[in-house]
Amino acid sequence: MSIATKAASSTPCLRVSPSGVHGLGAFATRPLEAFAVLGLYEGRRYSPAQVAAKQWNDQLTYLFLLSNDEMIDGAKGGNATRHLNHSCEPNCEAVEEYNEAGRLELKFQTLVPVEAGEELFIDYGLTADDGSLASEYPCRCGAANCRGTMLAVRSEEHTSELQSP
Ligand SMILES: [Zn+2]
Repeated sequence: MSIATKAASSTPCLRVSPSGVHGLGAFATRPLEAFAVLGLYEGRRYSPAQVAAKQWNDQLTYLFLLSNDEMIDGAKGGNATRHLNHSCEPNCEAVEEYNEAGRLELKFQTLVPVEAGEELFIDYGLTADDGSLASEYPCRCGAANCRGTMLAVRSEEHTSELQSP
């Protein structure tokens, strides 16, 4: 029996450690330039019909809805990219891209140069179609322009919900 070569990590520039903000976070293993690719958001994929049929009683944490209404559940077969936390002033972003097979993929990349050991964030911009209030998804990212919620602010209505009394 030979010693199997361990598959190369799909996210070599990421390390998962306790976050300064929430739970686990993803940190840069080395200095990265702006627009450096961190990896693809992997996980179990659901078609729009499957998304509609399933009871989503899990936490939203690892679910990523694509613009074609497919959903990726990073909790099942996902990689380190699922540990990027939310920030209202993120240093990374998620970009959709069609691969050669015509499949829509979600690529994570840096927005700005990042130091080795820095925690990496994206703006989740969550949308809650069930009418959840912004206050149900509070943000504690600590950014100067923190909007106080991980939800995307879409309307006047939401804006007014964000103003604390
Ligand atoms: Zn924030």
